[in-house]
Amino acid sequence: MAVTTSKPESSASSLTGYRAAVVHEFHAPLSVEEVPAKALEQGQVRVKVEASGLCHTDIHAAHGDWPVKPTPPFVPGHEGVGKVVELGGGVTEVALGDRVAMPWLGYACGTCDHCVSGWETLCLEQKNMGYSIDGGFGEYATAYARYVVKVRDGIDPFDAAPLTCAGVTTYKAVKVAGTRSSDLVAVFGVGGLGHLAIQYAAIAGGRVIAVDLIDEKLELAHELGAEFTINAREQDPVEEIQALGGADQAIALAVSPRVCEQAFGTLRRGGKLVFVALPADNHVTLPILETVLNGITIVGSIVGTRTDLREVFELHAAGKTKVIREVRPLARVNESIADVEAGHVAARIVFAL
Ligand SMILES: [Zn+2]
Ligand SMILES: [Zn+2]
Repeated sequence: MAVTTSKPESSASSLTGYRAAVVHEFHAPLSVEEVPAKALEQGQVRVKVEASGLCHTDIHAAHGDWPVKPTPPFVPGHEGVGKVVELGGGVTEVALGDRVAMPWLGYACGTCDHCVSGWETLCLEQKNMGYSIDGGFGEYATAYARYVVKVRDGIDPFDAAPLTCAGVTTYKAVKVAGTRSSDLVAVFGVGGLGHLAIQYAAIAGGRVIAVDLIDEKLELAHELGAEFTINAREQDPVEEIQALGGADQAIALAVSPRVCEQAFGTLRRGGKLVFVALPADNHVTLPILETVLNGITIVGSIVGTRTDLREVFELHAAGKTKVIREVRPLARVNESIADVEAGHVAARIVFAL
């Protein structure tokens, strides 16, 4: 096909290959190996990755846990952050040297009803980084220029990485929850997502209740702005939160259907339950009568748009959020996955590339 492009011209690259963590087979350990560099297509950029966070979704991808599975071999990672080193034809959105984030929403059509109404995250044509497009677990990654988000100067790339999924996902969940000042917001699960959800709910003016099973995580929640903390091993969150008047919103971030059911029980009349975490066990049992009589809203929230991510970076640059993370070399990817699965990680692991 003959392509005529207006400026800027694509920049040439001599890159032939790079190291990446590759899934060859579901459930098998990832292999850190040399992979070939593909030529850029129209509208794509090549990014030299600096930092890439490990999200639970990457583990689900590597295990092939969900009904729509990625096709091995593939490179996981949807919290990749790095600098643009090569431009495909027709790219106007970013320039060489820009630092960008490559989120889960790697591509959307831009013209369907969802895309044009501000819900590009629901686009049926979407492609996802680390799932249907090779992701950030490599020295380089290829991304669609329209769907990367610039990371402004002054933001540490190792903070930017967790903000690219954990940050934007919880920021959007708080928007979907509709938290207003003085609302009681129950956050279930204080991990990579939860530690940020607490901060966004507090920024929105909410009074935050953090629920977890581990005291150290609850201490962290308190430091990050939770007014109340509940260890669900020792106290019944439903009783405790109803004693406070009931939650206006409950945000379910723990990968457990039981926790989602518990979160429902903590709501006050007119309250809203926001599902975010995706447990491998896919179903909950919730009562219809109480949902109707109490006017409860139940809603799902999936990642966030480019605008949401820009706002997340803006808040971080303004010093309003704190990212708890541990930096490791990519060579430790399999050990890191095991640590996340065992719950041995304070919040987020970020790989240095
Ligand atoms: Zn994620
Ligand atoms: Zn679309």
